[in-house]
Amino acid sequence: MTQSRVAIGSLGGTITMTSESEAGVTPTLEAADLVAAVPALATVASLEAKTLAVLPSASLRPEDCLAALAWARAAVDGGAAGVVLVQGTDTLEETAYLFDLYWDRDEPLVVTGAMRAPQRPGSDGPANLLAAVVTAAAPESRGLGVLVVMNDEVHAAARVVKADSMAVDAFRSPVFGVLGRLVEGVPVFGNRPARVPALDDPAGASPRVALLATHLDDDGELLRQAVAAGYDGVVIAALGVGHVPAALAEEIAAAASKVPVVFATRTGAGTTARSTYGFVGSESDLLARGAIAAGWLTPVKARQLLWALLAQGLGPEDVARQFAARGGAVA
Ligand code: ASP
Repeated sequence: MTQSRVAIGSLGGTITMTSESEAGVTPTLEAADLVAAVPALATVASLEAKTLAVLPSASLRPEDCLAALAWARAAVDGGAAGVVLVQGTDTLEETAYLFDLYWDRDEPLVVTGAMRAPQRPGSDGPANLLAAVVTAAAPESRGLGVLVVMNDEVHAAARVVKADSMAVDAFRSPVFGVLGRLVEGVPVFGNRPARVPALDDPAGASPRVALLATHLDDDGELLRQAVAAGYDGVVIAALGVGHVPAALAEEIAAAASKVPVVFATRTGAGTTARSTYGFVGSESDLLARGAIAAGWLTPVKARQLLWALLAQGLGPEDVARQFAARGGAVA
């Protein structure tokens, strides 16, 4: 039987990091090195490996992500059954969601990385890469959008969060759980993600979208500064179901008359509400002042969505409509 083809693109991250001294690890390995370290990959698929960047994921820029996306589309157009992107885990919950917003193919795009560098005992990179390639090659993974495979679990890009800075099981999908799990080398799916049609690719300059976490005694000065500095949109990581101090609520009203202001919950799980509370600074008050609720999207995912909508040149009503559709969808 001819093997299906899987394309592996590497962007850097701990999975590629080595050190020749006592100094900390830095990205060095190329995609071909990652493939060579896992001989079992050859039994799963025929592989194409390409180094797209050699960066810590904190330094990935939108243009790196869009170039990776274009490469992934070209691989699928060239006959690949699926694509794996390897990158650092620090921003993986953001980039995977960005890829998902644009991924307009049935072939799976799988994102993976590692929590332990290759030189460390028990390094998880090889197992994660193998599981990602297995998932990318599997017919069962088609039509599910962008998937995150870590620690033998398959997550929806729209829901996954990095919930621990060091643990090998750092990736979680709060509330609704994982989509599936690798069992004896096969992905088994128990949930299917809600799919929302892909966005059009960005047109024009990259918008600037600020993410501000509110807190006790927030006087709104940073929001005022962000708008004055020319940011094109702002996401507020709000308290609970979407609450802010009264002083910030006033600033949100002023900011929302100029640029889209989105509020998401900073709790790490759950959704924003619409009509549960009625005090000044509550979710219903922020909605009445023109802010947009992120729903189930975490603050960083809401920031990616707002970036993509502004990059498409959408106006306030379309931005609000997209947040209702995507923030309300449950994966
Ligand atoms: N600690 C990160 C990782 O797991 C570093 C990065 O995101 O590049 O890959």
